[in-house]
Amino acid sequence: MMEQLAPVNSIYNEHKEHLDIFWEKICQEVIRRKLSKEDCWDFNVGSMEHNEDNYWRYRWQTETGEKRQRVVGKNKDGSQRTSICKVYTNHAIFVTHLAYLKKQGPVYSTRRHKRRDKTIALRYDISHLCSKRTCFNASHLTQEPHNVNMSRQKCFQEICLHSPKCIQTKDDVSKQLQEFISSLANDNGELM
Ligand SMILES: [Zn+2]
Ligand SMILES: [Zn+2]
Repeated sequence: MMEQLAPVNSIYNEHKEHLDIFWEKICQEVIRRKLSKEDCWDFNVGSMEHNEDNYWRYRWQTETGEKRQRVVGKNKDGSQRTSICKVYTNHAIFVTHLAYLKKQGPVYSTRRHKRRDKTIALRYDISHLCSKRTCFNASHLTQEPHNVNMSRQKCFQEICLHSPKCIQTKDDVSKQLQEFISSLANDNGELM
C-alpha cells in the first residue's frame, strides 16, 4: 500500500507563516465565541468563502517579487501610458484541510495498492464526524476512504458502527429520523 501526500501539505509548508497567522485568527474567534471542542466551528474571519459544495475556502495573494511592465491605457492627448505593476499569485486552501493539518497531521489524497496485479487507487477524504460540511473543528474531522465518508451520511448515533464514531446533535437526529421515515414511504407519500 502506498500513501500519497495530498498537494495541500506542500501548500501549507510553503505558506506556513501566513497560514499560521490565519489559523491564529480562527483560534481567537473560537475563544471570543466561547466555542468548545464539542461545538461545530463555522464562521468567517475574512477572506473566506464557500465553494460550490459549501466547504469553506480561504483565499490569499502573495507578491511574487517580480515587477512587470504593463500597458494600462492611453493618456488624454492620445499617447500611450504604461505603468509598472506588481505581480501577485492567487492561493487557496480548504479550511477543513488546514484545520486537519494543524491538529491531526498530513493529508493523503489517494492510497494505491495492488489487487490481482491491478493498481487500485483509493480516494481519501477529510470526513466530518458531525456531518456539517461548513464545520472546521478539527475534533470533528477524520481522514478515511471516500466510501466510509459517504456511509456516514445515513448514520444514526444509536447504531453507529463507525470508528471514530459520528457526532450528532439532537437536530441532526430528528432531521434524519424524518428522512428515514420519508424513505419508508412509497411514491404516494404513504408509509409502506
Ligand atoms: Zn462539527
Ligand atoms: Zn456513524
